[in-house]
Amino acid sequence: MATPLLDTTATRAAVPTGGTVPLISVVLPCFDEEDVLAETLSRLSAMAAAQSGVRFEFVFVDDGSRDRTAAILRDAAARDDRIRLLRFARNFGQQIAVTAGIELAQGDAVVLMDADLQDPPEVVARMVDLWRDGFDVVYGTRSSRRADSLVKRVTARMFYATINRLSEVPIPSDTGDFRLMSRRVVDVLRQMPERHRFIRGMVSWVGFRQTQVPYERPERFAGNTKYPLRKMIRFAADGILSFSIKPLQLSIALGLLAASLALIGIGYALFMRIFTSTWVEGWTALMIAVLFMGGVQLLCLGILGEYVGRIYSEVKRRPLYVIAEKLGFDEPPRE
Ligand code: UDP
Ligand code: MG
Repeated sequence: MATPLLDTTATRAAVPTGGTVPLISVVLPCFDEEDVLAETLSRLSAMAAAQSGVRFEFVFVDDGSRDRTAAILRDAAARDDRIRLLRFARNFGQQIAVTAGIELAQGDAVVLMDADLQDPPEVVARMVDLWRDGFDVVYGTRSSRRADSLVKRVTARMFYATINRLSEVPIPSDTGDFRLMSRRVVDVLRQMPERHRFIRGMVSWVGFRQTQVPYERPERFAGNTKYPLRKMIRFAADGILSFSIKPLQLSIALGLLAASLALIGIGYALFMRIFTSTWVEGWTALMIAVLFMGGVQLLCLGILGEYVGRIYSEVKRRPLYVIAEKLGFDEPPRE
């Protein structure tokens, strides 16, 4: 059970002190990524080989893939003891997959990275350097969105403008989940049991020293996006509704506006009824008032419903995910 006051002073500082070589965990959620994994694995190996003074473990979370993803990862885990595989019983979504990876990662720092090489492994070196300088969170910022479609660019901009207007914690725009987090940030994240997870917002909420590294975001190496519009809308809704109750306040404002308009309308109708003799018009006004009030009420009800639905799924307290297979987690990380 999470305590309301979270004291992290007893846990480790940003960078461990003492003689041991720090361990970096890289967490990669994968959903039907058979086309990219071979390349991802070799790029990760090359990246790890190019770095001295740190050890790596690679935590792959297979989010219910229907293709050969699990087979490829099992094979890789058999050959490389830094590779760990966690396989879900079904598709639970990227944010949940990342959560499971964080849960099992043992590193002194944890890096979240997409499996499709849109988050270049080479950037991790710069993140590790900044972590050694004492930063707790180093997030990758897209220096350009050239690889994204126009629709994605426009909607992303609208989304970040909205969420930053509504949310109490600032959420950096042009930032995905690609980031490095220190152990103490990870430990705080692990105490946040919420079910509708918007990880980049949750990390901002934690605080500590956070910084960014700009990088050029390439196109997906192979395969198709696993984020159709439907999933993207859900994700955006999770972001906004989990980090703000302002939409509820918006419904109060709308209600007030509608009520004041109604008052004016009532005054007008009464005046006309009492002081004029030929009062037959008004059907239009009536229709407008009814439709407007109906619309506002439905909107407010909808907003309310979204929050009630969230309360409902939180109180059920189901586990966040179901694990079907765990591979490579008992081996001690390689020295
Ligand atoms: N992903 C996942 N579960 C899902 C959807 C996506 O684990 O339900 C993973 C996917 O395999 C990839 C990452 O999340 O490693 C980002 O997905 P994708 O590249 O398809 O999203 P995009 O870059 O197009 O926004
Ligand atoms: Mg991608």
